[in-house]
Amino acid sequence: MVDLARDEHVARIERTALTVAEAENLSKVYRRGDEEVRAVDGISFRIDEGEFVAVVGPSGAGKSTLLQLLGGMDTPTSGNLRLAGRELSGMGDGELTRLRRGFVGFVFQHFGLVPTLTVAENVALPCLFSHCDSREAKSRVDSLLERVGLTQRRKHSPAHLSGGEMQRVAIARALVNSPKLLLADEPTGNLDSQTSARILELLHELNGDGLTVVVVTHNESLAAAAERRITLRDGKIVENAS
Ligand code: ADP
Repeated sequence: MVDLARDEHVARIERTALTVAEAENLSKVYRRGDEEVRAVDGISFRIDEGEFVAVVGPSGAGKSTLLQLLGGMDTPTSGNLRLAGRELSGMGDGELTRLRRGFVGFVFQHFGLVPTLTVAENVALPCLFSHCDSREAKSRVDSLLERVGLTQRRKHSPAHLSGGEMQRVAIARALVNSPKLLLADEPTGNLDSQTSARILELLHELNGDGLTVVVVTHNESLAAAAERRITLRDGKIVENAS
């Protein structure tokens, strides 16, 4: 009993030693005419390597804004945000873009695939933006398409895929630069329940391989299966529970 408790304690220390993202008093305020919208309102939290976190809450609670901040796609109005131990606020555009491309993968509800490119070209895109050579891109694309079960579809246009297949392409694309953190905004929002379950399974497999996953969701099974749930309301964290 004692040894088990000790092992668990040691495992916890090892896990928490690697912080992927850390926010302190983070806020994002939008202006709508004379009105101030506190989309994210002074929140603090930490996400450790290997965690699977669900961000939940009613519509307008600030979930997407928080995800955009975490992905370095939007800048906070105030507060601190560190990704991979590095403070984002002092970074120039070039440095931020490099960190975003290498450290973070993003998956959206509407997939965001480029309709004029094939499946393989879509997956390769972030790799090519990061100046990897075409041979390296091909090898990464091949292994990721195999991983998500879409090798046979590599030359297809996104328009010829089902919703679940499109989301798997989008996940492969998000992983092409081997990020440490995968951010997904309502990844099952456009999918039927069976397809959603398969996407959920894939996210769990990737998390099992060590990828840190943060997912904004209304999907109860997705939220319930997460290791930790951060609940937002009016831009504030009202629950942060494992
Ligand atoms: P959620 O993802 O939980 O639905 P959002 O993060 O999209 O919430 O939005 C939080 C609040 O911020 C909402 O009131 C929304 O209208 C507002 N908001 C989001 N983006 C903008 C923007 N670009 N300009 C003005 N207000 C915005």
